[in-house]
Amino acid sequence: MFRLAMKYRSTRGKATNYSFEDTVLTGLAPDGGLFIPHTIPTLPEDWQTAWSALTFQQLAVEIFSLFIDPAEIPRRDLASLVERSYATFRATDVTPLRKIRDGFYVLELFHGPTFAFKDVALQFLGNLFEYFLERKNKGITEQRKLHRLTVVGATSGDTGSAAIYGLRGKKNISVFITFPRGRVSPVQEAQMTTVLDKNVHCVSVEGTFDDCQDIVKQLFNNRTFNTRHHLGAINSINWARILAQTVYYFHSYFNLLRSLHLSAGTPAAHAIRLHYSVPTGNFGDILAGYYAHRMGLPTARLVVATNSNDILNRFFESASYERQAGDDGNVKETLSPAMDILVSSNFERLLWYLARETEVDGGSEMIGEETSLDERLAGHASKVVDGWMRDLKEKGVFRVKPEVVAKAREIFDSARVSDEETLETIRRYHNPPNPSQTSYILDPHTAVGVEAAERISARHHLVGYPTGQDIFVSLATAHPAKFASAVEVALAEQPGFQFEDVLPPEFVGLLERERRVVNVRKAEEALVIEVVERELRKEGVEWDE
Ligand SMILES: *Cc1c(COP(=O)(O)O)cnc(C)c1O
Repeated sequence: MFRLAMKYRSTRGKATNYSFEDTVLTGLAPDGGLFIPHTIPTLPEDWQTAWSALTFQQLAVEIFSLFIDPAEIPRRDLASLVERSYATFRATDVTPLRKIRDGFYVLELFHGPTFAFKDVALQFLGNLFEYFLERKNKGITEQRKLHRLTVVGATSGDTGSAAIYGLRGKKNISVFITFPRGRVSPVQEAQMTTVLDKNVHCVSVEGTFDDCQDIVKQLFNNRTFNTRHHLGAINSINWARILAQTVYYFHSYFNLLRSLHLSAGTPAAHAIRLHYSVPTGNFGDILAGYYAHRMGLPTARLVVATNSNDILNRFFESASYERQAGDDGNVKETLSPAMDILVSSNFERLLWYLARETEVDGGSEMIGEETSLDERLAGHASKVVDGWMRDLKEKGVFRVKPEVVAKAREIFDSARVSDEETLETIRRYHNPPNPSQTSYILDPHTAVGVEAAERISARHHLVGYPTGQDIFVSLATAHPAKFASAVEVALAEQPGFQFEDVLPPEFVGLLERERRVVNVRKAEEALVIEVVERELRKEGVEWDE
């Protein structure tokens, strides 16, 4: 494993030379940083022609191969992992692209088992976990000695259900998802609790989402508990999730060109200015777009679209990254709850690249004679990021130099969208002012992205294709039926609207189905530990005390 072609390091600099496997199984780096690849690979010279006719699955294998050494996962195994991960999607194209009006498209990422974009990554991550464990367990016959993973997570809705569907029935993995009782949407709660596989455990906690998240953090920091049960993380900082999400940027690029009857690699294709607008919370989805761009996907701009939890938008406007709670000290509750965050956990990865390109002068300070220039620069960037993160933790804010934001703005635009504007956008696309435009129902998260795209387009006076060359692709991160109440608020008074028309058959009767859930009467670590160990025993898991 020493000479792997692709290795990973932490953004805080203390962990380097991790294999892909260790990166994925570790989740968060031991120094508190996030894993990034040592280098961002470039695309093969002929990618535009060689990849243009590939299926989503074939593209995934090509892209993943650039980040995973075949010595770690042989290509045949990788192909079979990918095949299984996307066989659960209802759309044959996995992530279809749909035109909503001239120059504006949506990239539908919600055709997986839980009807939100997180499935794209978590279906793959579940299979990866199982693959690594099976390999470690080869030849081990004693039950007690088997390598296992106990995945523990907290959810306010979407992550939990996507993780459960990604991990249900997986060998040697148990999954525990805590959620705040009565505070996730009825559909989300039903999606989680109606999965009856033996290895899936929903834990309904009397408390808030933050309480759940605190307990999960305590469990990870509880050395005895963690060593005994080998905790695994599925939150959006896991590198495999970012990697999996890069695929649909490439896939949509080829789909777009096909729909415009342009051939990849030709001057007409090069003339297109492609913007992606991404409704953003923890910066995971859009970060994948940044990697795709850095690898060489022709992207004009990436639009960071936030709701009123707008720490990212404020960063782009003020060069200051500041934790700002609502009046009651908590995150602001919006109509796009999957984006309700106070700080954006994946942003640290982008910050590292920005630091590397603006804050580092070549490294006058020697770390060691044998260290290469590249390593020295990486080390410096990590120090800068470490300082920013320390300020954030201690003071709730850090400021960067104008050059840092200027660097980010070379590729990113940003916009903040209110709940009112979200509802108005859902209405506008359901009842388009122009009768030749087809009606489309946006979920509230997607509506944030679409509204941001329109605003950026207007701000820069862009002219949409086919009159001009600009095209906006907004990432559609959830099916409208998943966030039914916001869609109903927006469309209740609209002529011709009937919610049943958008209800997928999978949701019919969902709320009445048999459920399995464990209740915890108080948000306390000890009570959750009790539940976890009791449930593991029921599964037949044994461990050394
Ligand atoms: C998680 C989620 C988002 C935000 O994604 P990030 O990667 O955290 O930016 C947006 N929309 C929906 C529906 C989600 O579930």
